[in-house]
Amino acid sequence: MSTATGTAQDTAEVREAAAQRRTFAVISHPDAGKSTLTEALALHAAAITSAGAVHGKGDRRGVTSDWMSMEQDRGISITSAALRITYDDCVLNLLDTPGHADFSEDTYRVLSAVDCAIMLLDSAKGLEPQTLKLFEVCRARGVPVVTFVNKWDRPGREPLELLDEVEQQIGLRPTPLNWPVGIAGDFRGLIHRASGAYTKLHRTPGGATRAQEEHLSAEQAAAVEEVAWDQAQEELALLEEIGAEYDPETFRAGISSPLLFGAALPNFGVAQLLRTLVDLAPAAEARLDTSGEPRPVDAPFSGQVFKMQANMDKAHRDRMAFLRVCSGRFERGMVLTHATTDRPFATKYTQAVFGSERSTIETAYPGDVIALVNASALRVGDTLYDGPKVQFPPIPSFAPEHFAVARAKDTRTDKQFRRGIAQLDSEGVVQVLSSDVRGEQAPVLAAVGPLQFDVVRGRMEQEFNAPVELSPLDYSIARRTDAASAPTLHSLSGAEVLTRRQDSELLVLVHNKWRLKVIQRDHPELTMEALLAGG
Ligand code: GDP
Repeated sequence: MSTATGTAQDTAEVREAAAQRRTFAVISHPDAGKSTLTEALALHAAAITSAGAVHGKGDRRGVTSDWMSMEQDRGISITSAALRITYDDCVLNLLDTPGHADFSEDTYRVLSAVDCAIMLLDSAKGLEPQTLKLFEVCRARGVPVVTFVNKWDRPGREPLELLDEVEQQIGLRPTPLNWPVGIAGDFRGLIHRASGAYTKLHRTPGGATRAQEEHLSAEQAAAVEEVAWDQAQEELALLEEIGAEYDPETFRAGISSPLLFGAALPNFGVAQLLRTLVDLAPAAEARLDTSGEPRPVDAPFSGQVFKMQANMDKAHRDRMAFLRVCSGRFERGMVLTHATTDRPFATKYTQAVFGSERSTIETAYPGDVIALVNASALRVGDTLYDGPKVQFPPIPSFAPEHFAVARAKDTRTDKQFRRGIAQLDSEGVVQVLSSDVRGEQAPVLAAVGPLQFDVVRGRMEQEFNAPVELSPLDYSIARRTDAASAPTLHSLSGAEVLTRRQDSELLVLVHNKWRLKVIQRDHPELTMEALLAGG
């Protein structure tokens, strides 16, 4: 079997493929229009699978998944899937960031596998809590952000007001690429700032087809739109004055964000978003390894696991690892090395996963996502490589906001209980915290989203034969502390100190923000560091 270490021709091919890749995720709050936008993106391009099969909900649901019975019961998608869209010689890999009730640590981890994010805002609501949390992860990881202000076809806020909110609240400088003509609720069309071209909106019902986009010259537009056109021109002049011009350097550094107005439902402005991804979003590039060295994309194959999915196939109880290709060309059948154990890893059963459909994948390039089945030896953050050893830095744990004590329902299952909890901890399904006070039989499970607890319940029962009882704890905040501060913190009401098993960090759990403020005010000497995102 050939490997990616081969000829100059091979490395040129890999470099070219990497340059064509745009690997990104949409970060948004529920109902901002992520599913609609995903479908619209796929409509405009040639998606490998129909978008409805990937993100469909309710009666739009295209393919029912059999990965987890829970998934069927609730009609939600628990699995992060990747949607591949080909557009103008580019391969766009859209990685799903589960939202809604299934918001979990997985949602954050996906952001470690992307090169860019689309921050999707509802024009009437602006920045919302889940968007803010996800944005903080992007910022911490240095992921550049393109902003799409959605639902422009219906009454919303003033464009300048929205720009101001983004800049003031999160310190991200928006640089609009287009500008709306017409007031909220009477939206007429969009001016492309760089070219001055005007695209007039003609509504199509239901969003089932592409919007009728009519292209007009500035003179024609001025005649048609009259006052609305003049007002937009005034606002554009103002933008120029304040210097809100697209700037590649600050975009790449996460300081500014190219911003587009549009409406996913009538598919308006979506083509421009695709263009923006192709023209401005970073391609797959060298990623830093644990020693801080950039791993060139044309180095031998390497990839990092960013998500594990268990029990996708009930009959086989298999475990699937989602891996982002970081360098080299992947060929199905390659025997790789698992960096954590130095053991070989066979890739005979590699698959590309698009929504709930699986198809066997033969080759993949930097930026692509592949799914490895029978991957029970792998964990989130693990590296697989070919050739000389390389390892990527671990994916950090995120600030949990939900806590529950786990106990075996039947004490005779104690052994299975411990094994199961240890397994779920190592897979990163939940974070497991413990303390001498609570004891081994009653660990505290910590999660970013409550659905992670449902996964624990299901797997403990089905896989480990150890049904668990989870009693929620009245905490909503976790902060990192140290051995010096721990005894005092532990003695305070509304706070408790526990050890996170995976990394032995001491975490202090606090009831709520108000309690946290009081503790910080009364004990400024105590260590209480925020954890990544939300904390
Ligand atoms: P998600 O929760 O972020 O995936 O949001 P959805 O894509 O399910 O959209 C939430 C609601 O907003 C749905 O009723 C959509 O039809 C609606 N919606 C999405 N995009 C637009 C838009 O551009 N204009 C209007 N008017 N409605 C939209």
